[in-house]
Amino acid sequence: MYLCFLALPFWLYLQSPLLKSQKDFLIPPPDTLPSWIQSRYITFGTPNPTPTQPREISTIIIHSMYNPEVADSFSVDACLALLKRYNVSAHLIIDREGNIWQLLPLQAISYHAGKGQLPNGRTGINQFSVGIELINSYYTPITEKQYQALFRLTKLLCERYPIQQILRHSDIAPGRKTDPWNFDWQRFAEAFPKVVYNAKK
Ligand SMILES: [Zn+2]
Repeated sequence: MYLCFLALPFWLYLQSPLLKSQKDFLIPPPDTLPSWIQSRYITFGTPNPTPTQPREISTIIIHSMYNPEVADSFSVDACLALLKRYNVSAHLIIDREGNIWQLLPLQAISYHAGKGQLPNGRTGINQFSVGIELINSYYTPITEKQYQALFRLTKLLCERYPIQQILRHSDIAPGRKTDPWNFDWQRFAEAFPKVVYNAKK
């Protein structure tokens, strides 16, 4: 009897036109990525780690990072610990072996760009960009496996999303940011000449 008392209003609620119309607008994030990208989801560094609404994804920002405070500076775990402490993030991180880890759905806003602006003056870059971290330091080159992984990932993102431009973090925050470090930008530009920013430099 008690269960019936609870079940009837719930059943009526499920049948309500209001709920149905709301459900129709809940668009699942369409960024389920292929199996060569491994999941390592985080809940920090974003206003919402489980977005249900699509957003503009037109820009890619390339970064470098490592954790200088621990022995395993280049491990994904160490990098995630550092990101967590500052409540920042990236959508994807590429380790030294060229493994690609997805940290956030691409429809989620990631706090990776910070204060900065595009060459055309547009700000609020986190709102419409994907952030990719490459694990390396000021003194270590990007590995060949990382280049290959980044090229494969970039190709996929350009096929799936209307990517207009790819920039370095240092392009959008000059004077404040210097990453990605030791990155052969010319090589990247030749692989994606239509979207990579400032290819001649
Ligand atoms: Zn950066």
